[in-house]
Amino acid sequence: MADGEGKTGNNGKKVNLLVVTYPAQGHINPLLQFSKRLHHKGAAVTFVVTKFLFNNQPNSDHPPPFPVETISDGHDAGGFLSAVSISDYHDRLKHDGSQTLRDLIRRKEDAGRRFDAVVYDGFMPWILDVGKEFGLRTVAYFTQSCAVNNIYYHVYRGEIKAPVVAAAEEEIRIAGMPLLTMADMPSLVQVGNPYPGFSDLVINQFGNVEEADWLVCNSFYELEHQVLEGMENKWKMKAIGPNIPSFYTDKRIDNDRDYGFNLFKMNNEVCQKWLDTHPKASVVFVAFGSYAALSVEQMEELAWGLAQSNSFFLWVVRETEAAKIPAKFAEATAGRGLLVPWCRQLDVLSHESIGCFVTHCGWNSTLEALTIGVPMVAMPQWTDQTTNAKFVTDIWKTGVRAPLDDAGIVRRTSVADCILKVMDDDGGTKIRKNAAKWRELAKRAVDRDGSSDRTVDEILAQLVFV
Ligand code: UDP
Repeated sequence: MADGEGKTGNNGKKVNLLVVTYPAQGHINPLLQFSKRLHHKGAAVTFVVTKFLFNNQPNSDHPPPFPVETISDGHDAGGFLSAVSISDYHDRLKHDGSQTLRDLIRRKEDAGRRFDAVVYDGFMPWILDVGKEFGLRTVAYFTQSCAVNNIYYHVYRGEIKAPVVAAAEEEIRIAGMPLLTMADMPSLVQVGNPYPGFSDLVINQFGNVEEADWLVCNSFYELEHQVLEGMENKWKMKAIGPNIPSFYTDKRIDNDRDYGFNLFKMNNEVCQKWLDTHPKASVVFVAFGSYAALSVEQMEELAWGLAQSNSFFLWVVRETEAAKIPAKFAEATAGRGLLVPWCRQLDVLSHESIGCFVTHCGWNSTLEALTIGVPMVAMPQWTDQTTNAKFVTDIWKTGVRAPLDDAGIVRRTSVADCILKVMDDDGGTKIRKNAAKWRELAKRAVDRDGSSDRTVDEILAQLVFV
């Protein structure tokens, strides 16, 4: 079937999908993008976010081409930050979220719209039960890499004991995975993890995976085939990514250049104008996603490292992080840098002036850099970022990992050394070559008849004839 032709069953009816995202930028982006793919292939999509986020998005210059509906997380006025604890937030999300999701499905059914399936974020496994109550097929969507899912799955089944106790150099063996050390394990399963509420969330994703009709992951076969093959006998995760706006991959979806649901205000014009004035591959782009908060000491070391690198830099410093910038930094780097509170990261990464990406290795940022072909300096902070950094540097070999000192800080000299290593004409050549290789493979995966494209078609074809 040709793209956009529309998947219809024997009765000529479109497949009708409900897609529900966990309320965070790093989850909304890939689920929204997956929805656009499904929509482009002819499915009718209703996208669901929390009421709080819906009412608090400053930007949507490219709104999604399908309706967006809301459920409640029990914190309609203040969202996550108004909860008394992480666990409290997730308890209310489950309680109020399942009730309001039921109401939404009933309301739509009363209006004559019956859903065929619910695609839901793995962080909210309770949606599977709501879907089954209404007789819907269920697709669990995982926003982490297959490797990270594999680790959490093993922890859930007790095959890896958490917190993981191992000496710093000890090798940790997990089927289908390269040898890992403690530093490569997700922080949420390491000793001393200060966020048990988030550990519960990521591990409990796997409580009912056997009951879901499909498990899909925002990755692609070529990138993680060893992990996927290693998992095959135990469970049936399929790779359907990278879920990134089509403009940066196969260009098959018109006007798809932005994710389209932004929780922060963009600064596109100022970034583009500034980047336009810089030579090819000369600028270091620095961004740590929507959530990570650096210590004051780490922020200072990073700032002085950028100064020491003598490179041009575009640094995203969210408003909540801005007070940590050293007082004399602007003066010391005058004419070399631009600081913005948020940007359209995809536009920046794909600008020809960008030479490397200093990143926290959030999974979306990692996939975006791989897909656009930008070499990375990995500075993982927490959750799955440590594992993503391991794969970036040692498996895909598209970057270097900035070393921590005994206090767990990346010092300024290491920041500058890593940047120079990646940007350097000689040392960086191999990394750039690998980055170009992954860029092509990522694009091919989502393009017509690519590995991810075929998997999405298979899932849709099975839904058409339910
Ligand atoms: N992002 C952006 N502008 C910024 C920083 C980040 O648009 O200035 C986007 C980025 O493209 C990615 C998402 O925010 O899609 C961050 O997700 P990621 O998984 O990398 O990190 P998280 O925010 O979940 O820690």
